[in-house]
Amino acid sequence: MLDGCIPPDVHRAAAYREKGYWRGENLSALLRTWAGRHDCATALVDGERRLTYRALDAWVDRLAAGFHRHGLEAGDRVVVQLPNVAEFPAVAFALFRIGVVPVFTLASHRVNEIRHLCELSGARAYVLPDRHHGFDHLELALRVKGEVASLEHLFVVGDVPEGVEAIPLREVDAEPRPFPEPDPSEVAFFLLSGGTTALPKLIPRTHDGYAHQTRTAVSFCGITHEDVYLAALPMGFNFTWGSPGVVGTFRAGGTVVLAEGPTADDCFRLIQEEGVTFTSIVPTVAQLWLETAEWSPYRLTTLRSVQVGGAPLTAELASRIGPGLGCRLQQVFGTSEGLLSLTHDDDPLEVVERTQGRPISPGDEIRIVDEDGAALPADATGELITRGPYTLHGYYRAEEYNRVAFTEDGFFRTGDLARITPEGHLVIEGRIKDVIVRGGDKISPGELESHLLTHPAVARVAVVGVPDEYHGERVCAFVVPDGEPPALNDLRQALQARGLADYKLPDRVEIIDALPLTGLGKVDKKRLAAGGVTPRPAASAQPLQGERR
Ligand code: AMP
Repeated sequence: MLDGCIPPDVHRAAAYREKGYWRGENLSALLRTWAGRHDCATALVDGERRLTYRALDAWVDRLAAGFHRHGLEAGDRVVVQLPNVAEFPAVAFALFRIGVVPVFTLASHRVNEIRHLCELSGARAYVLPDRHHGFDHLELALRVKGEVASLEHLFVVGDVPEGVEAIPLREVDAEPRPFPEPDPSEVAFFLLSGGTTALPKLIPRTHDGYAHQTRTAVSFCGITHEDVYLAALPMGFNFTWGSPGVVGTFRAGGTVVLAEGPTADDCFRLIQEEGVTFTSIVPTVAQLWLETAEWSPYRLTTLRSVQVGGAPLTAELASRIGPGLGCRLQQVFGTSEGLLSLTHDDDPLEVVERTQGRPISPGDEIRIVDEDGAALPADATGELITRGPYTLHGYYRAEEYNRVAFTEDGFFRTGDLARITPEGHLVIEGRIKDVIVRGGDKISPGELESHLLTHPAVARVAVVGVPDEYHGERVCAFVVPDGEPPALNDLRQALQARGLADYKLPDRVEIIDALPLTGLGKVDKKRLAAGGVTPRPAASAQPLQGERR
């Protein structure tokens, strides 16, 4: 297995094979099989571009050979930062085909995250758009290339000016040739962890494991070749990529339609024009879609099911989704690390609206444990821990962290507080891990704090998620100032200048005299989040210019 990854326990691996969870499949060969089976059916729609399965597989073949000609070889890592464009799946499968391991990152990530991911993965190449939403990715890439020794190639979707050392992706093209099949037990790609301590960690997802996840999710959701999936959220999310998402739809022979983003207008138009039957969104997007559905001229009649997950969904909002969008709601509790729990079409309404369903695989083991790791009975709330055929065995190159992230018998500690109803449905009640979930975005307070501490006006800081009706949580920085209190916009600009992605920037700053401490001397974030510390009146809650709702 790739150096830096933890292999599965041999006995469990043997059991997964014996039970047929792991079938010795790799994602590259699977695409070829699906292409053979579905041939002239439409696999992918990206604006005006429509690709049949045959065309997609042929493109993947040429790209794979092209990447190989540029020196990429099995086991190499490549950071892939693309928005929802046809090149995303084409590049991903081309890299799978030659055994190269993509690291999926979000288009919103900036120099700080990209540099970290290139360094941590030892990436030899980075695939990026030239510009996206007005941001010059090429400039960022050239900077990172100058700083990360392993990075040899930049592959650009779009234009490369004369004299710039980068390769337009359209020139990555060579006569197809056979390559050795990737080992099914090998890492197929890396996803990013929400990050509880600092910058994201890399989550290895294997071919066999992901093949199992998508196969099981497809059958759980009843996806067929007649289905049309709208990729509204970024494709680099596990939710969009394979829950069952893009890969699951390919597996079923359906059609994947790419949306630039989850805005209701664009997505509703695509749903009507392309006859979309299912999609996946986070609760904040669901709320916006409901508001828009009331007056939108687009008809959503083909929509059969909307998956909502990635962040807590209130029962009230859940009850409005089906009637408001004219389709079935499916709740999704998902982790990039693996475990996927879904409500089922046959579940009673009560279960669909108030629980996060059941794990999709018979091989998933879930337990609710107390602080000492002892298993709790039905309906008792504790930490959710899990292991199974598609859940990771360890983060990449994170030996020390792996010791706390897993139990001795290999269960992954999700950091989520949950209970299992007597009927066996999972209910997420909150979380233990120090992560802020704003909409569906996961923000690490530790990462923000370390950057904020470099600001000259910040003496001490605690970043906390405070409840918010719309986003679920908002990012609030409680700052003990050094001299003149800093204004919110100053802090945001300073963080942007340090290369942080916009979605991580604080929504609010509160100026306080001292950080409250727990009996153990840790910062009492619960008290801060609950409004238990009175901020200085003058500088508190400064309005944010151009604030998004
Ligand atoms: P990610 O790995 O970015 O997909 O984030 C996974 C985390 O998102 C979980 O561990 C939960 O904290 C949170 N999450 C995902 N789905 C739900 C859900 N349906 N309800 C509440 N929290 C969720």
